[in-house]
Amino acid sequence: MRETDESIPTPNTDGLTNRERLRWHLTSALASAESPETKAHLRGALAACQYLPPTPLVECPLCGKVGLPERIQVHECRQS
Ligand SMILES: [Zn+2]
Repeated sequence: MRETDESIPTPNTDGLTNRERLRWHLTSALASAESPETKAHLRGALAACQYLPPTPLVECPLCGKVGLPERIQVHECRQS
């Protein structure tokens, strides 16, 4: 389990994109929100998530592997 700066439990972030983490946090917040106004804001944020532009893929300058930025950051580079 990786250390995070979050004080609430989060799913294992390996294999989760930042967008998936964002959705997870918003969904969790919605589940525990009590104020109707807060819920409305969270539903709006979740809806907005769906219309974000796709994350552009990046290429590792060393081995040429292509993928999501957060995956490339942690990939096992063949050149290292
Ligand atoms: Zn690489």
